[in-house]
Amino acid sequence: MVKVTNNFQIDLPLAVWLLQDGYKSGAADAPPGELISVTTLMKPTRQLILKRKVDMSKEEFDLSDMVAARAGHAFHDSIERAWTEGNWQEAMRKLNYPQSIIDRIKINPNPEDVKKDDVPIYLEKRGFKEFKGVVITGQLDFLIGQAYRDFKSTSTFAWTSGSKDKDYILQGSMYRWILPELIKDDIMRIEFIFTDWAKYRTADPKYPQTRVAHKEFALMSLKDTEEWVDNKINHIKANAALNQDKMVECTDEELWRQKDSYKYYADPAKAKLGGRCTKRFDSYADAELHKMAKKKGVIVKEPGQVKACTYCPAFSVCEQRKNYFKDDGTYLS
Ligand code: SF4
Repeated sequence: MVKVTNNFQIDLPLAVWLLQDGYKSGAADAPPGELISVTTLMKPTRQLILKRKVDMSKEEFDLSDMVAARAGHAFHDSIERAWTEGNWQEAMRKLNYPQSIIDRIKINPNPEDVKKDDVPIYLEKRGFKEFKGVVITGQLDFLIGQAYRDFKSTSTFAWTSGSKDKDYILQGSMYRWILPELIKDDIMRIEFIFTDWAKYRTADPKYPQTRVAHKEFALMSLKDTEEWVDNKINHIKANAALNQDKMVECTDEELWRQKDSYKYYADPAKAKLGGRCTKRFDSYADAELHKMAKKKGVIVKEPGQVKACTYCPAFSVCEQRKNYFKDDGTYLS
């Protein structure tokens, strides 16, 4: 069993909440075979192979690291209860939906009972698909009519930068691939609940104007999605039996590597000693221009820092990680 620490003395009421394991793998309802979730498939191949080699009895995590996951789960739970236990009909009336529409909505109906004019809504619906000797599973957050919605509690950076768009599309596309009889729309929506939204930043029109907002994304075709899953499973199989030195490495994108920077030293001797640089640039061209203007000095490239390993469950066993981090999680100097 994984050891739990409480390094920040989080008080009992919250500590117990943080230790609830709300995750349901769906294993009880799954057809026989090795079960792989959509979210696992989306992890870097190296990470998902090495994670299985970790001796969990030697692992530990701190309660404080559970806050984001539990808060995310709480949002999902609360939205689900609003539609299954809450007075969603009254809420829709307040939003000026006509009674004729409200009457057509059916919550979590048996798909065989859905009539032509019904508007089914499914919450936290899990699906399974057998493919290439494994069972792929995914649980969609919300489906209305034939359209899929996913709730994300995340930073405003995810909205403004689009850094997670590719992942959202891939995840949604795999859910449609698993549940094609339910998800028929080509467009999905991500419903954002921002964890760091600040009103004073809304003067920027690119910043989300409210604490919750949604964006639409076009899903991949079923054919492209199946091809992606096929390639990924083949990639995992091809690497699973290899020793780490032969195994595929995590890419810069998978490592969440930050951009390289270029340090300008007026005094080359200082550069050799690794001291503080005179100026730092994001691009080599800018650094070079500066050096030419000064008619002296040297430029030293500093590779962007890697971030993903400290969140990776394979951290303790991964050899690639040792290129960037010490065993205690601090950066190699
Ligand atoms: S520890 Fe880092 S390099 Fe190793 S699998 Fe995890 S993310 Fe990849």
